[in-house]
Amino acid sequence: MLWKCSNCGFMHEDNEAPEVCPKCGAPKEKFVALSEEDGEKIYNSDRTNDIHMEIIDLAMKIADLALEGIEINLDPPCVSVFEKACDEAWVIKQRSKAEIAGHMTKGKW
Ligand SMILES: [Zn+2]
Repeated sequence: MLWKCSNCGFMHEDNEAPEVCPKCGAPKEKFVALSEEDGEKIYNSDRTNDIHMEIIDLAMKIADLALEGIEINLDPPCVSVFEKACDEAWVIKQRSKAEIAGHMTKGKW
């Protein structure tokens, strides 16, 4: 069962609400139980947010590798491939970051 602190939005997973909110210190009474449907949405968005984080991580690795390739500077076509990979990795990273930010504002976390 999921409980949400109505003061700060902290999510608690247990049969009962905590005595005090670990984040803001609000008392137990401030916690509201989420419906099964809302709980399901939270679990699904939790997983998708993790996936976005992992994609951001991988995109940063691609950018790092591409920068190393650019530095080696083997020949112009090779550098061009790395430059494109770097640009594309940046787009992948920013797109996932924007999506996570969107989830936050819609209460999906
Ligand atoms: Zn709280």
